[in-house]
Amino acid sequence: MSEPSPNARLVRHPDGITAVDTEYIGPGLAAAHLILQDGRAAVVDVGTNHSVPHLLAALDVLGVAREAVDFVFLTHVHLDHAAGAGKLLQALPHARVVVHPRGVQHMAQPAKLIAAAIAVYGEAIYRKTYGELVPIDPERMVAMQDGQIVELAGRKLTLINTPGHALHHYCIIDRGYANVFTGDTFGVSYRALDTAAGAFIVPTTSPTQFDPDQLIGSIDRLMQFEPRAAYLMHYSRVTGLPRLAASLRMQIRALAEIARRHAGDADPAAAIKAEMRALWLTLVRAHGIASAEQVVDGILDKDLELNTQGLMAWLARAA
Ligand SMILES: [Zn+2]
Repeated sequence: MSEPSPNARLVRHPDGITAVDTEYIGPGLAAAHLILQDGRAAVVDVGTNHSVPHLLAALDVLGVAREAVDFVFLTHVHLDHAAGAGKLLQALPHARVVVHPRGVQHMAQPAKLIAAAIAVYGEAIYRKTYGELVPIDPERMVAMQDGQIVELAGRKLTLINTPGHALHHYCIIDRGYANVFTGDTFGVSYRALDTAAGAFIVPTTSPTQFDPDQLIGSIDRLMQFEPRAAYLMHYSRVTGLPRLAASLRMQIRALAEIARRHAGDADPAAAIKAEMRALWLTLVRAHGIASAEQVVDGILDKDLELNTQGLMAWLARAA
């Protein structure tokens, strides 16, 4: 085994679940999860190429051999979740990548994915953030099916289609332990915004396949399993899910309404972004955070920008 990286930031949760900070952009923004069951392991989302050493270090810290990893689940193929999968797979001889049927081709031939990311982020930021994507041998990929049950050492993991954030998105239902692994379907909730009231959550409407009705439908479907905890990529474990689900539904409707109302403006993006910011300031204050401007402009600023771009893409599709 290699020396554990001093940067392996782990948080151990119940039910054999460990969160690993993928150090995407900075700490505390994106978490991959490891599921350990009777000596076997699965990885839920990966991060980028730069995240791979952190994941391998986490396996070392937990005493999990690389041969013991059976699955790498990619909830969807957005690069902050999936870009490092090809590189990670080189270190995991027995792992198969489980991906939505719409994502298989992208992971085998990532050129389109790279072009899409450059369109969103610009070339310089793309290169720095993600590095060169390693294509995945199609023989090591499994295209998931809606309702499919995958067994990790007998632990049943149910995979369900969850469009709305992306058409290539699925979620993992860990029914025996009442957990769900939600990728980006159940929004983003940074631990820095936790207060006595609990977690603060916002939906992610990022480009290019956001659809409000689909996203609310997917959240409803997740909630039908009555989960106690959701594991989000951004960032990790939240509980008290009915309150969070209600907030997500309200915000998704509000953001779609804001976008529609400004569709004919001279500069719809600026107006949409300003109204989303105002909505979030109100919600952050109501959540008991006094320095609301600092939080919205300092922590939620990237989501504000990406959500605006995604709402613009949605308006363009609907037009
Ligand atoms: Zn995403």
